[in-house]
Amino acid sequence: MKIFESFNILKKEINFKQNIGFVPTMGSLHRGHISLIKIAKKKSKKVIVSIFVNPTQFNDKKDFIKYPRSLKKDILILKKMNVDYLFIPTENEIYKKGIKKKINILKKDRVLCAKSRKGHFEGVLAIMNRLMKNINAKYLYLGEKDFQQIYLIKKYLQKSINSKIVSCKCIRNKKKLPLSSRNNLLSKNSYKRSEKISKLLFNLKKLISKDFKNISLINFYKYKIKNLCDKIDYLEVRNPNNLSSQISVKNFKIFIAYKQKNVRLIDNI
Ligand code: AMP
Repeated sequence: MKIFESFNILKKEINFKQNIGFVPTMGSLHRGHISLIKIAKKKSKKVIVSIFVNPTQFNDKKDFIKYPRSLKKDILILKKMNVDYLFIPTENEIYKKGIKKKINILKKDRVLCAKSRKGHFEGVLAIMNRLMKNINAKYLYLGEKDFQQIYLIKKYLQKSINSKIVSCKCIRNKKKLPLSSRNNLLSKNSYKRSEKISKLLFNLKKLISKDFKNISLINFYKYKIKNLCDKIDYLEVRNPNNLSSQISVKNFKIFIAYKQKNVRLIDNI
């Protein structure tokens, strides 16, 4: 596996290679990331993984500082998987003078995390724009664990880049909790409580499928979930095609963001 820290050197290496698959990450790799890389390896001739904890997408500096990092372990995992290229840029490489740190999103898209984590997706779009324009991969592999992220990248960036986005399903543990680097920050107790929340969300999904106009169901589940965490940022049912609240019995997704102490977790089912 070749490791790069600068766009220029990376570009020299990959320029002429047509079928490149790109898996952007913030590291602290787990089975969720690994599933994306496996899909990329099947579909693309050469696979690039990037690891960069992007400061401009953190609305809370403390959250950025305590975000889990395990570069040595990550490199071992990627080498074992025979990944072709690893890109680990410095902050200076990404945000050179004149490079946008945020890309604006429309007011109508400021729902769910775009509303409750101010500036987060503006930072995500900026880093994705910078990475994708330089890497120019044929395929970009993204996880549905971050459903709204895929939605916004498609909406705001797909026109200006050549990559085709491949959505990959969310990987969960046995109790249906989505794997996340942030799970490393949870106490044993908070971890168990989060698993119980996942179970409740799957129950709620079943109930809504039977009676999707019953709004009191959501309030009832909010109450139950509230007892298992410190704060619910949102629990909403939305249309997965446009994230509007116009749902039908066959076309809806439950979105949640909640906090266990200072650790913020998200899910969509
Ligand atoms: P992150 O390192 O959390 O920024 O995630 C990097 C990529 O891995 C994103 O496309 C995520 O959606 C994806 N990802 C993270 N967790 C999971 C998971 N549990 N299952 C599938 N994909 C995931």
